[in-house]
Amino acid sequence: MSNESMLDTARKNFENAAKMLRGAFDPELIKRVGTPKERSEITLSTQLSDGKIHLFKSFVVQHSDALGPCKGGIRMLPSVTLDDVSALAMEMTWKCALIGVPFGGGKSGIVADAEAYAPDDKQRIMRSYARNALRHIHPLVYVPAPDMGTNEKDMGYIKDAIAFSMGVAATQGCYVTGKPVIMGGIPGRREATGRGVEISVLEAMKTLGRDIKGARVVVQGFGNVGSIAAILLQKRGAKIVGISDVDSGLWNDNGLDTEAIARHAAKTGRIKGFKGGKALDRDKILTQPCDILVPAATGNQITEKNASKIKAAVIAEGANGPTTPVADEILEKRGAFIIPDILCNAGGVFVSYLEYTQETQAKQMTEEEVKTRLEQRMRDRFQRVHDTARTRKLCMRKAAMYMAVHSVCSAHVARGFLP
Ligand code: NAD
Repeated sequence: MSNESMLDTARKNFENAAKMLRGAFDPELIKRVGTPKERSEITLSTQLSDGKIHLFKSFVVQHSDALGPCKGGIRMLPSVTLDDVSALAMEMTWKCALIGVPFGGGKSGIVADAEAYAPDDKQRIMRSYARNALRHIHPLVYVPAPDMGTNEKDMGYIKDAIAFSMGVAATQGCYVTGKPVIMGGIPGRREATGRGVEISVLEAMKTLGRDIKGARVVVQGFGNVGSIAAILLQKRGAKIVGISDVDSGLWNDNGLDTEAIARHAAKTGRIKGFKGGKALDRDKILTQPCDILVPAATGNQITEKNASKIKAAVIAEGANGPTTPVADEILEKRGAFIIPDILCNAGGVFVSYLEYTQETQAKQMTEEEVKTRLEQRMRDRFQRVHDTARTRKLCMRKAAMYMAVHSVCSAHVARGFLP
């Protein structure tokens, strides 16, 4: 980990884009675009199954609604801070703009260890968040989704708690995405972020003239994003040689059986104890020899301390903000091809948009349609970012940030500034 915060990383990436846009937009407008619209801290007082009241801090940040309602997941982690949530909300603003959906950027945080609570108690915490944050959550204001520590089930509880608070059976419009399909969710949302990572990696390998078959892949983090990306890349013929989670790492030079590890992790909650590989230090996994590295855990994992030891040709950022700006420079100088987070992991929010349109327009979409549209959009945006990078002689991150911040500034100009 680095001493830099996730907010430092997000601000630095924004400043790089802001410099390129000087002259194109009013400096005060650029400043506005880089500043959150609203940051709230909400105290939840939740009665858990022990009969006692437990206090939890939670946060909702709406970074920007210039392009549409704020969109972004709920992170449940003991270490999450208002600044982390602000950084993630800012990133969501760029991601939605880049992937081309009419959403702004938002994010929530709940300061709690998701794994420390029995399912009943976690449900109580989620319902408590939904009731207390309800004045921020609305299809035209802010629409949450899953992030680290929260999942599809939790989104179902949120929808139910909101409907219950309104005294209705089903909400009018989409208050939350990533819900179970039976509750108005969309088939393929759970896999969408990992699938988007897979498509980005395939595009990067094609661009570099390299074959995915036999390529050696390391995946940091084996949750929703990491496990799906690993399984899908293995199906494409890549060899997943290393995997890690919050506890430990696993290594097998001949390739790990990712589906078997997913089954083991679903049963035990961890990858530890899986027999088909040797145990390896959790953090050493990042610097092991491989062709493709997929950080899919948390922020600021690739830092000035380990960047020069990372050997991968392609780094596909499944996680949000996994690379610090100094590490970014080190990797760029070495010629690594980085697929930046706002592009690489945008598949989740793109399919959330399909879920939103399905619910607001009372339409239904099949999983095949979802997959086809996701694949087309990811490929299209990858190529647009790559073209911008080539013509402006920028790395992929700077090109993506330039395009995204330009869009948000343009939306402000189009909307005008009078109240
Ligand atoms: P998750 O909670 O399902 O899984 C997180 C995984 O990371 C777990 O396996 C955990 O054990 C592991 N982990 C945590 N700290 C680690 C560390 N220091 N080293 C190695 N492993 C570690 O979360 P997720 O939904 O898969 O999200 C992962 C990342 O992807 C986050 O950065 C999130 O913001 C980003 N992301 C998620 C989505 C989504 O749709 N879920 C969309 C876009 C981006």
